[in-house]
Amino acid sequence: MTMMRAAVVREYGGYDRIVIEEAAQPSLKTPKDVILRVLACGLSDIDLLSRQGISGWGLKPLEPPFISGVNVVGEIVEVGDWVSGWREGDRVIVYPSRSCGYCPTCLRGEDTMCHDARIFIEDSCGGLADYCCVPASSLEPLGDHVSLWEAAAIPLAYTTAWRVIKTARLKSSDRVLVLGATDALGSAVLSLTRRFGSFVYAAARGLTNTQALKKLGANRVIDLDRENFEAVVRKETDGYGVDVIVNPLGGSTWLPALRSLTIGGRMVVCGASMGDSPNISIRDLYQSYRQILGVPMGNREDFREVLDLLDRGELKPVVHGTLPLEDTAEGHRLIESGEACGNVIVDVSING
Ligand SMILES: [Zn+2]
Repeated sequence: MTMMRAAVVREYGGYDRIVIEEAAQPSLKTPKDVILRVLACGLSDIDLLSRQGISGWGLKPLEPPFISGVNVVGEIVEVGDWVSGWREGDRVIVYPSRSCGYCPTCLRGEDTMCHDARIFIEDSCGGLADYCCVPASSLEPLGDHVSLWEAAAIPLAYTTAWRVIKTARLKSSDRVLVLGATDALGSAVLSLTRRFGSFVYAAARGLTNTQALKKLGANRVIDLDRENFEAVVRKETDGYGVDVIVNPLGGSTWLPALRSLTIGGRMVVCGASMGDSPNISIRDLYQSYRQILGVPMGNREDFREVLDLLDRGELKPVVHGTLPLEDTAEGHRLIESGEACGNVIVDVSING
């Protein structure tokens, strides 16, 4: 049996439960699969949630021991007998969602709305290891000129952020408020929103984070340690409010966010990290023609579109930093503590 390094979650709990150990190198599960040598793996909320035994979007609790890691960039080292169009040495990126492929929602391209939609690590090991096995149908090519680290930020954060922007029907004249703007998804929304020329308010806590948001091009950074975003928006829009709010936080942000929307404004909800049961005024919602729109993830087309932007050099994903596989736990800590601005990438190609 050939062995490899892997970041294994031995039991549910804190990031200290991640153990770097020798594991058996995966073999092809079906003739439709390929084996990848993992080059980089971007950490995501799914890694953090699954480590704690919590289910995330399309993700059932994984039973320890398991290897997570869904933002996978790698090189093909073995190809199943039924696979065509791919060969050893191809540099690829993995689309992390799987679905039935034949239901009405799949057939109209909304694969992540399929009742059978799930993240691939429910069926096999993830990319926080030297090798992983994935279905060839989940692969997209990656050009040699594309940064591995930037590509590893794309599958969850940027695919979802792109769908958030499409769902918001963003226009250049819109004023936008991005909450949670320093996390992987929030920073992705911020960098994509700037393409539209919209005026962007970005909210975060602390000097380091707010300085980072200025560098990312936010027109107005709101430091939540010193300012109240509802008051700032009300004052600086002459009482009208913003057209679009991107809210990955939920919880206590919902009511002030709703009241920060102009008449007919849209709030796109793409997370609930601050709480799942918000206080909300129904009259504040319907009497002002406001809309709340939910987006848990983008679909395959959204994924391909952001990859195309990356390939053409029109998108520069926000990478907080990279770590060797041996420091995967430190990557979890950086995200959980709020120290990371943007994506934390595990560079599996280096030995720590
Ligand atoms: Zn389906």
